[in-house]
Amino acid sequence: MSIIRLKNVSKFYYSKGIIASGISRVNLDLDVGEFVVITGESGSGKSTLLNVISGLDTYEEGEMYIEGKETSHYTATDFEGYRKKYISSIFQSFNLISSYTVYQNVAIALEIEGVPKSEIKEKVPAIIEKVGLSEYRNRKVSRLSGGQKQRVAIARALAKDTKILVADEPTGNLDSESAAGIVDLLTGISKEKLVVVVTHNFDQFKEHATRVVKMHDGKIVEDTGVVKKPEKEPAERAETAQAEHEKEPARETPRKKKMSYGTQIRLGLRNTFNLPAKFLLLLIVFLFVVFSVSSQYVSVKQQKDTVAEAGWNNYFYHYDPKRIVVEKQDRSAFTRADYEALENAPHVEKLIREDMLYDNQVYIENKEFSFYGFPMSLQSLDREVDLGTMPQNDSEVLLRGSDDGWTFGEDPESLIGNTYAYYGDDGTERKVTVTGIVFNEYNEDDMYFVEDSEIYFTDSMIAEIRKSMYASRGTTTLHINGQDITLYPGDGGLVINDNVPEGYILIPTSYDYQFEKGYAAGNDVTLGVKTLYYEEKLTLTIMGTYGEKTFEKKTGLKNLAEHDGEIYINATDYRRLYERGSYQASVFIDDTKEMEGMKDMLERGGYHVLVLKDHIYNFMNEEIVNIIQTPLAIILCLAVFFIAYFVIRLILKSRGVYFATLRMLGMGKGPARRIMRTELLLVCLIAYGLFLLFIYLNNIGVIYSERLMTYIMYLGFRDYIVLGVILLLMALVISSRSMRSIFRSSAMGAYREEA
Ligand code: ADP
Ligand code: MG
Repeated sequence: MSIIRLKNVSKFYYSKGIIASGISRVNLDLDVGEFVVITGESGSGKSTLLNVISGLDTYEEGEMYIEGKETSHYTATDFEGYRKKYISSIFQSFNLISSYTVYQNVAIALEIEGVPKSEIKEKVPAIIEKVGLSEYRNRKVSRLSGGQKQRVAIARALAKDTKILVADEPTGNLDSESAAGIVDLLTGISKEKLVVVVTHNFDQFKEHATRVVKMHDGKIVEDTGVVKKPEKEPAERAETAQAEHEKEPARETPRKKKMSYGTQIRLGLRNTFNLPAKFLLLLIVFLFVVFSVSSQYVSVKQQKDTVAEAGWNNYFYHYDPKRIVVEKQDRSAFTRADYEALENAPHVEKLIREDMLYDNQVYIENKEFSFYGFPMSLQSLDREVDLGTMPQNDSEVLLRGSDDGWTFGEDPESLIGNTYAYYGDDGTERKVTVTGIVFNEYNEDDMYFVEDSEIYFTDSMIAEIRKSMYASRGTTTLHINGQDITLYPGDGGLVINDNVPEGYILIPTSYDYQFEKGYAAGNDVTLGVKTLYYEEKLTLTIMGTYGEKTFEKKTGLKNLAEHDGEIYINATDYRRLYERGSYQASVFIDDTKEMEGMKDMLERGGYHVLVLKDHIYNFMNEEIVNIIQTPLAIILCLAVFFIAYFVIRLILKSRGVYFATLRMLGMGKGPARRIMRTELLLVCLIAYGLFLLFIYLNNIGVIYSERLMTYIMYLGFRDYIVLGVILLLMALVISSRSMRSIFRSSAMGAYREEA
C-alpha cells in the first residue's frame, strides 16, 4: 500500500474574482524509499502539488489517501495532525527562526512534540553532526550562509523523524557546490523515507532521483518510474517500507503528544529577550499603557477628592478632608494628657481642642458695630497682633478677620478699646473690650481658603462659652412631683441668682398647686441635664416660690414681666450641671492618604472617630463625577488600549513567520498561544515593575516628578493591585487577539503574506 495516493486531485486559487488552476486532475502514487523529483517550468503547479501532499493547502476535487485513509473530510486540525505525524518540510526560503541558534532551531522540532529534554540533548547534537554543522551549533541562524541555513533546515526536518520529507526548491538559493552537498544529504535520507523534492533545476538531482514527475500547466505530463537504477530492487524497497511500518509504533510510544508547559514558558522567555529592539519597543508601548491607564485612574480619584473638598457638610462648618472629629470611647472629657498625646501623634498637623465651639459662631455688638466669629482660645493664636495689643484678662478679646473694608469697617483701629456686649448661648450677657485685631493672611496656594472671622478669648472665657453651649444645646428638665418639665434657656429657663443658697432652688408660685396642701417650699425637686456628651442630675430643696409681690424681694431683680417663669439656682449648682470639659476634639492630619492609618490608630487609642470626608453632604457633585468623569476615563483607557493593541500587532508582525514556522513543524494553537502570552505578560510585568520603581524612587527622593507625586498621594495598596490586574488583563486580551489574527490564515498563507 502506498503512503500517499492522489486520485484526480485539483486545486484552484481564487483571487480577486479570478479562478486560477493550481493543479488539475493529478494522479500520483508515492511510497517510502522513493526519491521523487517534481520538475517543470515556473507556474506549472509544482509547489501547489507539494503543498497539497504535505497538507499545507487544501484541494477542491478528487481524493487523497494517506496510508489508505481518505482525507476529503479532513478539517484544518486534522491536517495539522497529519503534518505533525507524517511531514517534514524544507523550503527554498529555509523558514528558520533566525533569532535562534542552530541548536535551538533543531531542538524546537522535538520540543513541539513533547520529547523530554534529556532525549533532546542527546539527539540534537548527533543530527547537527550529520549535516556537518557541529562547529556552528551555538551560532544564531541569521549569521549563517545560505548553504548552512539549508543544512539547518534539513537537520530540523531530520529531527522530526517523519516518514515523508518534502522540499520545495531546496537548492534554489544555493551555489552549485552547496547544492551538491544538500542533494547528497537528501539522497542518504531517502533510503528510509519518502523524499519529495520540487525543483526547476533537474540536473542537480538526476544522478540520485528514483523517480521524476514532470508538470506542465497544472498537469502531470511525465512520470518516469526510474531514471537511474535504484540502489535497491523494488521488492527490497517494499521490504524497507514494511520494516519502517513496524518500527513506527516503537518510535512513537515514548513521546508525549504535547509540548510541556515548562517548555512553552521557556520559549516565551527566550522570545521576550532574544530580539532586543523588539523587546524595547514592546516595553515602551507597555510603559505608555501603564502610565496612561494609571493617570486616568488617578485623575478619577483626584477628581472625587476635589469634589469632596469643595463639598459642604450639614453639621460641620469647617469642612476639611483632613479633619477627623474624635471623642473618647468611654465618653469622658479630654484631659491635658489626652491633648498632648494627640498633638504629638505622627501626621497630626493641628488639633482643635474645643471642637464643639469650632463650628458655632458667636457675636459681639454695640450700637455702631457687630462682629460674628468662631470662638477661639488665645492659646491657639500663632501670630502677632496687627493692631492694638493682646488681651490681658477675661473681659478682653481679640478679633480676627479679613481686612476687606467691611468686616471691620473703614477704620479698624477705631474699634480698639471699645466695649461690646457678648451674649452667651444660654442667654448670659457679658461686657467685653476689644484690645487688638489680627488680619487674615491671604494664601494664594490655598484654593479652599475660607475667610473666617474669629473672636479670641482667654481659656476661662472659653470654658464659660462651653458651659453656656452645654446649657443651651443640652436638654434641662425639672422633675417635680412626678412630672418632667423641660426648661428652655431664655424662655423661663434656669438662671443663676446669688440670692439662692447652694442646694436650694427658687421657683414661680405657679408650681405650688402641684404639691399637696398647695405649698411647694421644703419639697425636693430634681434637675436633670442631658447633652450629647454627658448626663447630670441634681436634687435641690425648694427654698420657696415667688409671685408678683415677692419677686423683687426674693430675687433682687426688677420687672417680673421680663423674667416670667424663670427658675433660680446658685452659681455653684449651675456649674455642677453645666461646667464640663471638652468631649470632642478635631485632629487635622498632614496628608489625606494617611487617613486610613490615622483612623485605625485613633480607634485603637480609645477614640470614636468621625472622618469628615466620609460624611460630606454633596452627593450631587459626586454623582456628576461618576456620570461624566468615570466613563470618560474608561473611554480614554479603551483608546489607549486600542492604540497599544495596534502598535503591538505591528511589532509582533514578524511573529507571524515565527508561529507559521512552529505550526509547520506541527505546533498546535494552545502552546503557541501560551508562548505568546508568556512573552506579553512578561513585558507587561516588567513595564509595571518599572512604573513601581519610578514611584518608589520618587518617594525616596532620588527622582522628582510632580505627576508621580500625585500618584503616590492617591494610590493605595489596593489601587496598585487593581491597576496590575487591569494591565495583565489587557496583555492577555492583546495576546489572544493577535494570536487569532495569526492563526486565521492557513500556515501557507502566513508565509505568503510575509513574502
Ligand atoms: P510553480 O511552483 O511550479 O512555480 P505554483 O504551484 O506556485 O507553480 O503555481 C501554480 C499556478 O497556481 C500558477 O498559475 C500560479 O499563478 C497559481 N497560483 C499559485 N499560488 C497562487 C495563489 N496564492 N493565488 C493565486 N494563484 C496562485
Ligand atoms: Mg514554486
